[in-house]
Amino acid sequence: MNTQNYHPDQAIRDIQHFGEEGGVVPVIDVASTSTFLDPKDMERTFMGELQGCYLYSRHSNPTVNIFGKKIAAMEGAEAALGVASGMAAISCTIDQIFRNEGNGQGHLIASQTVYGGTYALFKNILPAKGIKVSFVEITDLKAVEKLITPETKIIYAETLSNPLLSMCDIQSLAKLCKTKKIKLVIDNTFTPMMCQPLRLGADVVIHSCTKYISGSSDFIAGAIAASNEFIASLIDVNTGSVMLNGPVMDPRIAHELYLRMDHLGVRMSAHSQMALFLAKRMKEKGLPVIYPGLENHPQHVLVNTVMHSQYGYGGILTLECKSAAEARDLATALQNEKFGLYAVSLGFSRTLMSCSAKSTSSEIPEEERKKIGLSEGLLRFSIGFTGDAETMWKRFESCYKTVIG
Ligand SMILES: *Cc1c(COP(=O)(O)O)cnc(C)c1O
Repeated sequence: MNTQNYHPDQAIRDIQHFGEEGGVVPVIDVASTSTFLDPKDMERTFMGELQGCYLYSRHSNPTVNIFGKKIAAMEGAEAALGVASGMAAISCTIDQIFRNEGNGQGHLIASQTVYGGTYALFKNILPAKGIKVSFVEITDLKAVEKLITPETKIIYAETLSNPLLSMCDIQSLAKLCKTKKIKLVIDNTFTPMMCQPLRLGADVVIHSCTKYISGSSDFIAGAIAASNEFIASLIDVNTGSVMLNGPVMDPRIAHELYLRMDHLGVRMSAHSQMALFLAKRMKEKGLPVIYPGLENHPQHVLVNTVMHSQYGYGGILTLECKSAAEARDLATALQNEKFGLYAVSLGFSRTLMSCSAKSTSSEIPEEERKKIGLSEGLLRFSIGFTGDAETMWKRFESCYKTVIG
């Protein structure tokens, strides 16, 4: 089973909502509260006896809901919920699973190469709440299995890990989770459209919509895709982690993202095309580049079997420099030559570059970074799709020759 027989573009397209006067796009429903014609209906809504009524915008909002439908369509999910940030999506999901599965505590197994903020949440916040966390090389299934205890409730990984770009075997992890009654949570931020983890057996998918789904680096947002039951549990008035911690999505942002979802597929293909072009050129010149679309990538075969070929291999590539100083010098030259911008984050229409060890992975202690092979000289690129490929390559090559030789 793979996800290639699913057409996220078609599914997203077929979600259509109209403006009140027949506009081709929906209006933004900004109301924070809704009227009830019969006070009894309000009581029944609070009691959970009446479904489908809008009550209060922290609970649910029509515009946030239709954005959720687009995310659900992309992931082949029953339901999805927009939230205030990618970190809100992660922390609320983890909270909710532990709460749904028992007393709010237990054990979580996480990939040792995850986004720095996720690492810090797992390392510093969860243990203080009484949750045990183990980090593991997620591509080593035997090592994962060894860590499982009767308390284990969650296995957490990123489809393509940040920043090392190793691909986890979602299907095998899902099989393991099913037999042990563990929830598999996958952060799919790097690979929207390209991969549908729920269709491979995952239970919950997380997105930082700040990245590709926005595409314009103009706001912070997140989303959670899962079963109807799980999404409903997040907004339960008595026990929902989104409802009660409160990191909801603003309807104005939901509206922006709703519109942008329609061209996410085209944008992903364009990012991938430019990234593959540059990665191949770097490889031809003998540069130490890591990119899932290159044959020497350790999980290239797995990537080809589970990902949609039409969206390519994504926009992220990394280049190994000899030292942090060399990486900084190269990035500075590239910024001066208008190859890209030295900034954290990813998924922007223009190329963004950063030294992971000293920025988005700086939460991971140096010792740990050494163990997982994240060197100080690693320069991460989120390749943009703007500009002419040959021109961008010439700029890159001339900077590389000047700085590194
Ligand atoms: C950025 C990012 C996050 C956090 O998302 P925010 O929207 O910044 O809260 C989580 N996971 C990955 C893989 C990311 O790149």
